[in-house]
Amino acid sequence: MFEQAQQALQEYYGYQSFRIGQEKIIKNILSGYNTLGIMPTGGGKSICFQIPALCFPGITLVISPLISLMKDQIDSLNTIGIPATFINSSLEWIEIEERIEMARRGDYKLLYIAPERLESEDFLWKLNEIDISMLAVDEAHCISSWGHDFRPSYRLIPKLINNLSARPLVTAFTATATQEVRDDINELLGISTENTFVTGFDRPNLTFKVIKGENKRDFIEEYLSVNRDDAGIIYAATRKEVEALYNFLNDRGYSVGKYHAGLNYEERKKTQESFIYDELKVIVATNAFGMGIDKSNVRYVIHHNMTKNIEAYYQEAGRAGRDGENSECILLFSPADIRLPKFFIDQSNLSEERKEYEYEKLQKMIDYSYTGKCLRHFILDYFGEENPKESCDNCTNCNGEGDLEDITEEAQKILSCIYRTEQRFGIGLVAAVLKGSKRQKILENGFDKLSTYGIMSQYKMKEIKNLINFLIADGYVLLSNSKYSVTKLSNKATPVLKGEKKVYHKVRKKIEKVFVKNKLF
Ligand code: ADP
Repeated sequence: MFEQAQQALQEYYGYQSFRIGQEKIIKNILSGYNTLGIMPTGGGKSICFQIPALCFPGITLVISPLISLMKDQIDSLNTIGIPATFINSSLEWIEIEERIEMARRGDYKLLYIAPERLESEDFLWKLNEIDISMLAVDEAHCISSWGHDFRPSYRLIPKLINNLSARPLVTAFTATATQEVRDDINELLGISTENTFVTGFDRPNLTFKVIKGENKRDFIEEYLSVNRDDAGIIYAATRKEVEALYNFLNDRGYSVGKYHAGLNYEERKKTQESFIYDELKVIVATNAFGMGIDKSNVRYVIHHNMTKNIEAYYQEAGRAGRDGENSECILLFSPADIRLPKFFIDQSNLSEERKEYEYEKLQKMIDYSYTGKCLRHFILDYFGEENPKESCDNCTNCNGEGDLEDITEEAQKILSCIYRTEQRFGIGLVAAVLKGSKRQKILENGFDKLSTYGIMSQYKMKEIKNLINFLIADGYVLLSNSKYSVTKLSNKATPVLKGEKKVYHKVRKKIEKVFVKNKLF
């Protein structure tokens, strides 16, 4: 039957071959196994159920939560000559009746329905008169209460499967990676783990970078000055940060727009369009920006702050390089940024169990920022995709960019100052003591008498703070999680203070242009 599938791919879709993951999934479905495909958006999952639908005798019932997209999907299927239709709340009852009747006669190969349809006993009864050979559950994570998008009517799917007079083959698709969600899908839809395939997450044209312990604004400005002609997105965590960064870049003459939910619809629309038509090069935005934006030539996505988990990061970063050309995904990591997502989890009205789950996902994101291993490998591992190569040669950890600078002496000064200020103060105060500031708080506490007072006076405050941040990022200094982030020494600090271990800081190479192809000169 696989030859038939290949023929259908060429005949209807005009593609020469399946992607590797598609082939595995389709072969599995055609062999008659209930199958779960975990693929990122754009990974090509539609073909994974549409082609088997063409190979099987009866109709394939597709459950899809995206009512707004159903019509477009059906239109494109009809355009390539595949008989398909949809039933959802946008139709009059008479149209629904007509479509059911046609499905019963076998006039369609695919019938898309919204999950809410399953709430109607009458509708379930009518489905029984249709020859359904396969059920395809799109966005299958909606069935799990662990998912970000739980839809109670998805829970009616198992009932549907059991009630149909002939049990259909069950296939399900999602981009959600987490184990809890997968377990739910496997269990509720009766799909075994050996019939679960994770595929398509690797994006070889993307370079992954984590930048730590640097002044973020300086980095962004330098980056933009080098990549002035390229389109990019800079994500920041809050509206306030978006505004501040936007003003900073706008004042310096960059072609930049801003986007967040606090701006009115007209403004957002205008910015979005200017960006899509290349009138604006850079958008500074919160995560409100991006849904449904299909701009292929985004050369870089910079995250000014970390996201709450890897899924969110990869989805946002993945907006770079849709055209397949080299593009960069840069995370500017600062340990202080952990506080905001943590705060959101703390303040949420989730159950304790759910909070724990969200903390774990956040921790993975933190681990991504600290890991010394291949960043691509880390991501693919997270999503559960097999990745035989341990190293990709296309991320900051594999490329080992930059020279190592010995900063042991500076580290000792800082660590010792944290110790002498009794591990009770934040980065700003420690830096001010090292700088030799006459701030009232310093004088009040008698810190001007400390041996570490003013021992880094030749450095700028910003430089001292950057060094402290680096020591935090590399785990020599810990930040307490209380409201005021207090610096504390970790076990890793002791051998440095005793002179038994050296500290190296990787000096970043000069920023180079991301994209040099197709330039006139
Ligand atoms: P998803 O539903 O996973 O978001 P789609 O099924 O819409 O992704 O596919 C994403 C894009 O990839 C579409 O433009 C589709 O036509 C294209 N595509 C899918 N499979 C193939 C293939 N085997 N060869 C070439 N292009 C493909």
